[in-house]
Amino acid sequence: MTATTITTIAALLATARTRIAPAEARLLLGHLLQRSTAWLEAHRDEPVDEAVDRQMSALVGRRSAGEPMAYLLGVREFYGRDFAVTADVLIPRPETELLVDIVKEKVGVGETAHILDLGTGSGCLAITLALECTNAQITAVDVSAPALAVARRNAQQLDARVCFVESNWFSALPAQAFDLIVANPPYVAAGDPHLSEGDLRFEPQGALTDHADGLAALRHIIAHTPTWLSPQGWLFCEHGYDQAGAVRNLLQAAGFTDIEQHHDLAGIVRCAGARITN
Ligand code: GLN
Repeated sequence: MTATTITTIAALLATARTRIAPAEARLLLGHLLQRSTAWLEAHRDEPVDEAVDRQMSALVGRRSAGEPMAYLLGVREFYGRDFAVTADVLIPRPETELLVDIVKEKVGVGETAHILDLGTGSGCLAITLALECTNAQITAVDVSAPALAVARRNAQQLDARVCFVESNWFSALPAQAFDLIVANPPYVAAGDPHLSEGDLRFEPQGALTDHADGLAALRHIIAHTPTWLSPQGWLFCEHGYDQAGAVRNLLQAAGFTDIEQHHDLAGIVRCAGARITN
């Protein structure tokens, strides 16, 4: 039995555009038809069956209710690669690519570097580092089993070797020393209005906020990192746009030296690095 033809690509896109942005409409329909947006433009008069019409109006409804494009498409690009994402993981952010650049430079091409990624989520940092730094051995932890399932799937898909451990920060990690520890922890303060705006409303709250002053996870990581670092080993953490001073103070109080503060392309200090030299 053939499905009833009730509409065309052009008509579907026109209907969608009354509720969502045209570019988003093209991406959603392209996703449903497994076609590029260029293909859609070249086949505007092509018929679309009823099932696609129904699926498209469901996606348009969810998008117009604010659901992030990354969750509707099931994918987000990070550092040039596609990562599967579900509502169990934070959507990879462009500013987090800064951490990759910093770590790549620190690791260089010499001996094997043991790297730990704390709170890996989709695995975007750990997997990217595994693929970019061929001399690195990566361990990645997350407290969320569903998040780790997404990360494992991404590692497999992208052919990256990462050792994943379900762990609340360091708690379940077997004793070992790391040359580099990286983290993009939850650093949004409880009650921050951003949590109830845009994409953040749909993301796992535990990946965004510490349910406290925004520094609780950073404080924990900075306090415990020294016992997990090899001599001269580095810690690099992403932090909030207004946390540079507080993170510097935490690093100093924990005995770190050589503190580095890196800003993103918007000029905002986004990432702190430091090591223990004595
Ligand atoms: N950068 C994210 C945001 O402000 C927060 C990510 C995080 O808490 N690690 O949307």
